[in-house]
Amino acid sequence: YSPIHIIGGGLAGSEAAWQIAEAGIPVRLHEMRGVRGTDAHKTDNLAELVCSNSFRSDDATSNAVGVLHAEMRLAGSLIMSAADKNQVPAGGALAVDRDGFSHAVTQAIENHPLITVVREEVSGLPPKEWDLAIIATGPLTAPSLASAIQAETGADALAFFDAIAPIIHTDSINMDVCWFQSRYDKVGPGGTGKDYINCPMNEEQYNAFVDALIAGDKTGFKEWEGTPYFDGCLPIEVMAERGRETLRHGPMKPMGLTNAHNPSVKPYAVVQLRQDNALGTLYNMVGFQTKLKYGAQAEVIRMIPGLENAEFARLGGLHRNTYINSPVLLDRSLTLKSRPGLRFAGQITGCEGYVESASIGLLAGRFAAAERKGEPLPLPPATTAFGSLLNHITGGHIVSDDEPGKRSFQPMNINFGLFPLLEPGSITKPEGVKRFRGKDKTVMKKQLVAARALEDCAAWLGR
Ligand code: FAD
Repeated sequence: YSPIHIIGGGLAGSEAAWQIAEAGIPVRLHEMRGVRGTDAHKTDNLAELVCSNSFRSDDATSNAVGVLHAEMRLAGSLIMSAADKNQVPAGGALAVDRDGFSHAVTQAIENHPLITVVREEVSGLPPKEWDLAIIATGPLTAPSLASAIQAETGADALAFFDAIAPIIHTDSINMDVCWFQSRYDKVGPGGTGKDYINCPMNEEQYNAFVDALIAGDKTGFKEWEGTPYFDGCLPIEVMAERGRETLRHGPMKPMGLTNAHNPSVKPYAVVQLRQDNALGTLYNMVGFQTKLKYGAQAEVIRMIPGLENAEFARLGGLHRNTYINSPVLLDRSLTLKSRPGLRFAGQITGCEGYVESASIGLLAGRFAAAERKGEPLPLPPATTAFGSLLNHITGGHIVSDDEPGKRSFQPMNINFGLFPLLEPGSITKPEGVKRFRGKDKTVMKKQLVAARALEDCAAWLGR
């Protein structure tokens, strides 16, 4: 076979290289560190962990990222085996000795007879003679390659910051307080006039909320990140600081909305949530990007009527991050629709986190290897963590139709909200148990989703 080229030897690129080489196909892995650094990496090792040394929960029975760990182990992941060999004590989490970990990945890659590591910056899209290639250059993709990707995909298709509003599990929203309605009952394409969840506030609640936003603990930008504020993307706390009424005239305006539970009382302000995934299990808070620290953020958001018990699939943030508009640009096997043979993998596709980036590298590697061999490779089932994450990136996302031109795809960690729902009636009170409360049902739901994922993943891998 002729080689498959991978640009970027981070978490995703290293895993992709391993999967391809283990399938018997040669790889050329182009990594610029050693020649040119990034603003966050400190070494020349492959798969360097730029910040925390944690791969998060290793619980495969009831935690979504734990399920992803287990699926990756089933698929022979290099990143997981290097992590397991370099584990340090961290309770239920999988934390690693960062140097030992990246050293182990580097050694395994450099010693693999089918992998050649080339230390160079690739400054444009892969040349045509690299007929199969994977771009896995991460959140800090070198500027010249980023410009080339932008030229190929269109100016709006590449983001350099993620401005993330919190995303909430739908079943944690109190619909006795909130109601479904689109502003002025507007029916957009595919809409019903009831596309948003609305949370009402009276004047007193609004003022207390604004005060809490202003007082809340915030994170600053790193020097190298710059300050990416632009119109339409201000953090809510910055809007609150600009004037007490700013939010009420911006994302929290009450116009065109009638409280279904109390139609005669006009809300003073309204927080709107928009469906975030095709399954309807997640809703995002419209216009609520924020740099409040996570603890403060959860506390302030739970002040909103109807969100007192909100469970977050992810909290909001504003970070430097290069990523493409994957649901529009990529096909289901992570190939750029406009350039057959060219795949993307890792954080640049719009997943978030070390484990997620590596897992998308694993899938891109397997898809590319199958393509080189001319063999079909079915997609991982939607019920698996692999399938759920792939679905978030390449298809399951709702594209905003009410704000034309506004990108609505935002990076996300794996979480149970991305998995398809269980069959109705799956959650039943176990025999002999006296009290079976909401909390017990949630635990059972996670356990059933996790078990289904692992079973289906094993079948997909032919185990
Ligand atoms: P990377 O691991 O960054 O790998 C990309 C590689 O491509 C790099 O080695 C880079 O040198 C190389 N490269 C770039 N451009 C070129 C080019 N033109 N030619 C050749 N090589 C190139 N996730 C977590 O789970 N926990 C955290 O604590 C965490 N902290 C983060 C902190 C920061 C500052 C950032 C930016 C991200 C953080 N992430 C974290 C998010 C993400 O999980 C990591 O960035 C992860 O490393 C992404 O994996 P990747 O393989 O997509 O990219």
